[in-house]
Amino acid sequence: MHELPVMIKILSVVCRHAQKNGVREVRSITVGVGILSDLEPEWMQKYFDRISRETVAAGARLHVRRIPALFQCAICQASYVWKDRKQPIPACPGCGRQGEGRLVAGTGYQVLEMEAI
Ligand SMILES: [Zn+2]
Repeated sequence: MHELPVMIKILSVVCRHAQKNGVREVRSITVGVGILSDLEPEWMQKYFDRISRETVAAGARLHVRRIPALFQCAICQASYVWKDRKQPIPACPGCGRQGEGRLVAGTGYQVLEMEAI
């Protein structure tokens, strides 16, 4: 499962941050996941629970926030977002062209917030 290496990276980010800030316990972690990523929140939590057992983040709840995909138009350089995968990719708001957008973001993930004590 491709969630496992991702969760190992997320856990190491969280633990490093916790150590730097003298955190005793991490309660929850908000992870931004691009709408074009196929990471499954359910599997993310399962793997996280497994690998975080002996860490400061044991038992932490993951919150997944979907991040819109970002395009930049190859013709006029305007940036625009695609919020919902079920909808067609929008035309460029700058020049109105369809299909000239270059994908800039939307496939990755990052730790956005963590709640800790
Ligand atoms: Zn354009």
